[in-house]
Amino acid sequence: MVEIRKVGVIGAGQMGVGIAHVAALGGFDVVLQDVSHERAQAGLQRIEANLARQVASGKLAEDAKLAALSRIVAADGVQAMRDADLVIEAATEEEAVKRRIFQQVCPELRPDAILATNTSSISITRLAASTDRPEQFVGIHFMNPVPIMKLIELVRGIATSDETFASAKAFSDKLDKVTTVSEDFPAFIVNRILMPMINEAIYTLYEGVGSVENIDTSMKLGANHPMGPLQLADFIGLDTCLSIMQVLHDGLSDSKYRPCPLLVKYVEAGWLGRKTKRGFYDYRGETPVPTR
Ligand code: NAD
Repeated sequence: MVEIRKVGVIGAGQMGVGIAHVAALGGFDVVLQDVSHERAQAGLQRIEANLARQVASGKLAEDAKLAALSRIVAADGVQAMRDADLVIEAATEEEAVKRRIFQQVCPELRPDAILATNTSSISITRLAASTDRPEQFVGIHFMNPVPIMKLIELVRGIATSDETFASAKAFSDKLDKVTTVSEDFPAFIVNRILMPMINEAIYTLYEGVGSVENIDTSMKLGANHPMGPLQLADFIGLDTCLSIMQVLHDGLSDSKYRPCPLLVKYVEAGWLGRKTKRGFYDYRGETPVPTR
């Protein structure tokens, strides 16, 4: 079993930033990479702000924040992954993007390094087959926001070795997360259940059954969900929601997973939720305002 000390994170978006954050707090050295050095640095700045917020709310000591920050480096290219023991890909939820990243990074990696993906839905077996190390490939699926959510779904592809799986489990345990194990079928456990519910909430809006506010309030107060499904969709990212529905639809060939045309329209508009400041709510003012 490879002992993990240094972790590479590819993709410094909302998930990559969260993964780098918890890995550094867990005592791992972290190298964070994105399409440019500037984006990786912007990710590092977001981690600094998020750690500072934890300090301000009394959840973290100032010296723990400083120690975590001293362990994270913003990378300038995939070469920075050269001495990583574990590399976690957390880039955009598009299979072509992920495949391209693996093609670029694999030649840089140590032969014994483990490669993981944070994909929400794409086949681990298929992604693994596009790399030079299917036995050392595993799904480590964090939840959003990573520093707060307790769960990691571990997913083994058909070729994932027991050693690789044990290393991924040991790494997750060190982050103080609870792990569940999912078989490698489209969208695994959490999103197989969650995403059709979100898609149905969007159909409920599309068909005029309820407004954004009525749908979210109904599910918060009527089903005791901490967030309404449309608010949650904005939080996840509507592009990510659409990609997951497409993976379910294509992978299971069942029309019950067809993405709602209204979800497609929002994504086509570039209204991707919180990250672009507009989705089912408009976040540009003081308080979110429904867009429908
Ligand atoms: P995001 O859009 O916030 O970030 C994606 C990042 O990947 C961007 O910064 C982008 O510049 C970067 N990227 C794109 N191509 C790249 C490349 N070639 N090399 C390096 N970086 C590249 O998306 P996110 O919400 O952070 O999602 C990332 C992954 O995590 C996806 O696979 C998604 O399915 C998964 N995920 C998302 C959530 C969620 O709630 N958003 C939860 C669990 C898992």
